[in-house]
Amino acid sequence: MSTYECEICGAKFCNNVQCKMLIKQKSTMSSFSYKTHFGQLEGELRENHARLEEQKVALREEKLRKFLNKCEDLFEDALSKIEGASVTDTSLVTIPTGLPEMAPIDDSLYSNYVSHLKDILDTAFSKSILEIIEEPQNAVSSSSFDDQDWLNDILEKLCTTCKGGCCRSGSHKAYLNEGSINRIRMHNQMITKKELLDYYISHIRADHIQGACINQTNTGCSLPRELRSDTCNDHFCASLTNYIRKPTKNVIAIQSNCSPLGLTNGDFVDIVDIVFIDEESSRTLTHGKSGE
Ligand code: SF4
Ligand code: SF4
Ligand SMILES: [Zn+2]
Repeated sequence: MSTYECEICGAKFCNNVQCKMLIKQKSTMSSFSYKTHFGQLEGELRENHARLEEQKVALREEKLRKFLNKCEDLFEDALSKIEGASVTDTSLVTIPTGLPEMAPIDDSLYSNYVSHLKDILDTAFSKSILEIIEEPQNAVSSSSFDDQDWLNDILEKLCTTCKGGCCRSGSHKAYLNEGSINRIRMHNQMITKKELLDYYISHIRADHIQGACINQTNTGCSLPRELRSDTCNDHFCASLTNYIRKPTKNVIAIQSNCSPLGLTNGDFVDIVDIVFIDEESSRTLTHGKSGE
């Protein structure tokens, strides 16, 4: 099946009146004249496209700047109301919002997940534990902050508040592969395939966040860290990565309705919640559209 592409601007479905007019006139023009007009129009369209792209980037940057300024003001205001917290021990962390609705896990999601688990367990257990130990990549353990419980707790609370914005695409695989299984076997050398399968299955809840990873619930990920994939344990969105560089014991999280990928030109940014988080607890300071 052939796909029509405009010979001037290259668009699949061209709606440009100038392109259409020139193509219509083509049969009445000399080849030289057509080439000249073609070159001119093509150049104009390219420049116009580049200008529009620049404007889009500028608009997005302006919007982001305004959003961050608003967050700074909200942060200062919230901080002034929290007894004992100061700017030196409290960070501002902006977080997005994951999907909102809980729903029962349907049969096909459940069976696809179990069959994925069986596949990766079969592949992983086709090698003996000695072979696994010999493989250099298995010597690298997950980089979660094993020696910093307080930081893990804060990160977990931030992701729970966010409702797993980046867990949306976990679906029935939860980013798990045979590498994840081999890492677990390295730390539990006597564990059997059946025990591990049962352990994973025991963490499946009746409900999950609809449209997201099977393990995502409204209280966070139902898998303990040691069962999660390296992708899940090692991935942090830009805001959390920023926070981890210079972590503090308190966080004021400003949650917006942005996607984890950040602002797009079409986004209308609302502040969803402002939450104070420390190692012990997480409490909502302001709920709803407070940022306008
Ligand atoms: S890493 Fe960022 S986007 Fe992902 S769940 Fe945590 S706060 Fe949300
Ligand atoms: S396993 Fe947990 S952390 Fe990983 S994508 Fe699923 S819900 Fe998110
Ligand atoms: Zn065109």
